Amino acid sequence: MRSHLIKADMTEVYPSAVYGHGVFIYDAQGKRYLDGSSGAVTASIGHAVPEIIDVMTEQAKKISFVYRSQFTSDPAEKLADKLNELASGRENDYFSFFVNSGSEATETALKIAIQHWQEKGDYRKNKVISRWSSYHGITMGALSMSGHIGRRERFVPLLESFPTIASPNCYRCPFHQKYPSCQLMCANELETAIRREGPEHIAAFIAEPIVGAAGAVIVPPDGYYQRVKEICDAYDILFIADEVMTGIGRTGKMFAMEHWGVEPDIIALGKGMSAGYTPMAATLVSKKVIEPILNGSASVMSGHTYSANPQSAAVALAVIDYIEKHDLINMAEVNGDYLIHRLKDVAHRQPLIGEVRGKGLMIGVEFVSNFLTQLPFHKDVSLTNKLVRKARDKGLLIYPAAAGIEGGDGDAVIIAPPLTIRKQEMDLLVDLFEETIKEIQRDLH
Ligand code: PLP
Repeated sequence: MRSHLIKADMTEVYPSAVYGHGVFIYDAQGKRYLDGSSGAVTASIGHAVPEIIDVMTEQAKKISFVYRSQFTSDPAEKLADKLNELASGRENDYFSFFVNSGSEATETALKIAIQHWQEKGDYRKNKVISRWSSYHGITMGALSMSGHIGRRERFVPLLESFPTIASPNCYRCPFHQKYPSCQLMCANELETAIRREGPEHIAAFIAEPIVGAAGAVIVPPDGYYQRVKEICDAYDILFIADEVMTGIGRTGKMFAMEHWGVEPDIIALGKGMSAGYTPMAATLVSKKVIEPILNGSASVMSGHTYSANPQSAAVALAVIDYIEKHDLINMAEVNGDYLIHRLKDVAHRQPLIGEVRGKGLMIGVEFVSNFLTQLPFHKDVSLTNKLVRKARDKGLLIYPAAAGIEGGDGDAVIIAPPLTIRKQEMDLLVDLFEETIKEIQRDLH
C-alpha cells in the first residue's frame, strides 16, 4: 500500500528505523548503520542513553506540558539558569527564550533584535545582514537570512531581500586572496555592507560560527570574528551567533564562538541541545539586548504553544548534565583530532577529496573532479547523493551538504558522529567511508 507519510525525498525507499544503541541505528531488517552524522548533527550523545530515558520517564510521570502564559516550571527555570552559567562570559548574562527547532531559534533572534531597537525608540533598524553561504532555518524569516540556494529558490519572491556578504572560505577565497596577507577582506566586507545600507537600517549581523549545511564546515581564519564583532560594535549592530549546529560541545567547546573569545549579543541553539531526544531549541539573549524590552513592553513578541514545556526542558538539562559528567566536550576535541587525522590520510590516497576540514567532531569533506584546480563536479553527476546513498547501503550515515561555492555548485558531506564515539567505531567509519569513495571513483570511470 502507498505510504501516507511525506518523506524528505518521495522517490527514495528509506529503511525503517526500529531501535538505536550508542552510535548505531538498526532497521526493520536488522541491518546496522553507523550514525556518522548524528542524524542532522543532532544525536550528540548517541541513541537510547538510559540516563536520559530515566529523566524523560520521571518528568512524564509528573507533568509533560504547561502553557508558558499560565505557568513556569522547575525544569525550564533550571535550564535557563544552566544555559546562562555556561554562556555568560566577561560581559554578558544571558536570558533564554525556549522554542522547538533551530529555525524558530533564529527566527526569534531576528524578532528580538528588531524589538530591541524598537523598544529603544528606533523603528528603522529592521534589516539583518547575513552571509550568502549560510543556513539559518527553513521558516520564512530564517530563510530570508539564509543563502542556501536550494532551500530558498522556490520562495525567493516571498523572502525579505536582506543584504548579504561573502563567507570566510579560505579553500575557495571569494576574494582570491591568501590568509593572512588578505588582511581579512571577508570580515571587512561587513563594514562595506553596513555603510552601503546605512547602519541606521541594520538591526543585526547573523553568522554560523562554523558554516554547516551551506558550506560543509567552513572554519573562519583567526581574527575573523574579533574583527566582525569590532565592526558590529562600532556601528551599533547586534551580533547573532547561530550555534544551532555548533553549540553544546560539538566543536570541542560548549559554544563554538569560544574558539575566538567573542561574546555574541544573541545565541541561537537547537539540535545537540536535546541531542534529538525531544524537540528543543533556544534563543539566548544577552542582558544588554533584553533590558530595553524588560524596561519597555516587558514582553518578547513571539512564542509557540510548546515553548518551555517541562518535558523538553528536563531532557535538555539531562543531556547537558550527561555531557559534563562524561567529559564529552573534551572528547569532541580528542576524537575530532583523531578522526580528522585519519580522514586526511584517506584524502592523500583518494584524489576525489579536495579538502578535509573541521573543529572537534564537526568535520567537512569536499569533493572535486580535479584535485589541483579544485574544479567541482558538474551538478548532473549528483556526486553527493551518490556518495550518501552508497555509504548508507554499506551501513554508514553521512550528511549531504553544499560545498559553499557561489551558485550552489560543488559536492561535500559532513561527518559528525556522536561525541561518545569510540576509537574502533571511528576506524570502522573511516574504512566504510574510504570503501564508499573507492567504489564511487570506480563508477565514475
Ligand atoms: N541553523 C543552523 C546553523 C542549522 O544547521 C539548522 C539546521 O540544519 C537550522 C538553523 C535550522 O534548524 P531546524 O532544522 O531545527 O529548524
